[in-house]
Amino acid sequence: MPETTLAPSDSDVSAATLADTDPAIAKLIAAEAQRQEHTLELIASENHCSAAVMAAQGSCLTNKYCEGYPAKRYYSGCGFYDEVESLAIERAKQMFGCGFANVQPHSGANANFAVQLALLEPGATFAAIQLSDGGHLTHGSPVNVSGKWLNPVTYKLVDDESRDDWGHIDYDSVDAVCAEHKPKVLMCGYSAYPRTIDFAKFRAIADKHGCLLWADVAHIAGLIVGGAHPSPFPHCHIVSTTTHKTLRGPRGGLVLTNDEDLAKKIDRAVFPGSQGGPLMHVIAAKAVAFGEALRPTFKTYASEVVKNAQALASALMGKGYKLSSNGTDNHLMVVDLRPTDPDLAGKEAALWLETAGIITSMSTVPKETRKPFNPSGLRLGTPALTTRGLGADDMNTVAELIDRVLTSKGDQGKLDAVRSDVVELCKKFPMPH
Ligand SMILES: *Cc1c(COP(=O)(O)O)cnc(C)c1O
Repeated sequence: MPETTLAPSDSDVSAATLADTDPAIAKLIAAEAQRQEHTLELIASENHCSAAVMAAQGSCLTNKYCEGYPAKRYYSGCGFYDEVESLAIERAKQMFGCGFANVQPHSGANANFAVQLALLEPGATFAAIQLSDGGHLTHGSPVNVSGKWLNPVTYKLVDDESRDDWGHIDYDSVDAVCAEHKPKVLMCGYSAYPRTIDFAKFRAIADKHGCLLWADVAHIAGLIVGGAHPSPFPHCHIVSTTTHKTLRGPRGGLVLTNDEDLAKKIDRAVFPGSQGGPLMHVIAAKAVAFGEALRPTFKTYASEVVKNAQALASALMGKGYKLSSNGTDNHLMVVDLRPTDPDLAGKEAALWLETAGIITSMSTVPKETRKPFNPSGLRLGTPALTTRGLGADDMNTVAELIDRVLTSKGDQGKLDAVRSDVVELCKKFPMPH
């Protein structure tokens, strides 16, 4: 039978089939779809990817071992996978305007581990921001391999509140830590930093002290690709990112560079250095998401994300809330709850908000006075709400809902009232498909 007349394959398991074969899991997935539909997603690292991305990720490509790289595989039968991975690589390079891309890291943390394996010997010194100022676990936390096996030294944010650049990167402290410790690698890129990163300034400091400059743009990748944040290229030697935050793809990682020697080191550090078989279904989904991000509509999306964040930030500040650095340039903001309610910590605030259908994450704040598992702040972001179609005017409504929760003292009646208003708002913005 010629290939074109083949019936649809059984391997394309549809949701209907799942309901027959595993009703328990099918029911939970349906319940989660409902939850997403009826809540406001304000976690800065989350988004709603397209049905096309999910179709690629849910495909028969999950069945294949493809250890190696395109045209250099350890298994037979990889022909179509070579084309899929090559497409993902080409689109990644096009998105960031760079020469080399590795699309295999299973996650942002895996991408960062591969970069560290490629660039740093055990015990080697690298500089990154201190965790409480908005860094990531993989940037040298003592509980992560980056802190256990390497020697992180840290710079900080400007902590003098009388300065205009309070809460921005303290570039003098970057320079000072590099001068003192001569790290091999200088890292920029953060998980809770609301301001623009000056990659050129970082590069000047890196060059002055003979460091390689590495940007982890996990949070802002989509803004970079959409032209709403300056590009790390040509300033950075290595760039790592996730693909599922503002970039709106499947969960995964990505490493980019313009340097051929570094590219070879990165490839070896990903496979066989730290991973086995690539997740080819995820790589296909990355290719689909990259294709979406290369369309002109994604530029509009990225600029709307920032406009919405700025609208939400000014609405909250208008209600008296204190934001780290007094605002935002990107997709996120960090609310310090202490000045408005000294008794309300991040964990309880996030719980009240969740009860009301507003999903957020707690966050440490500059000059944190509480413990990391119950810090003093909330991190809010607009990537997911913007995907759903909420605009700047709607951010006033969202700020109003958040304020009603944070001033409710946890009163169940008040939280229930917000919950029903949240559901009404959600109905106006159905999930995109
Ligand atoms: C989210 C994030 C990561 C880790 O990504 P995972 O996919 O969760 O492993 C790494 N670096 C930064 C800055 C992040 O924000």
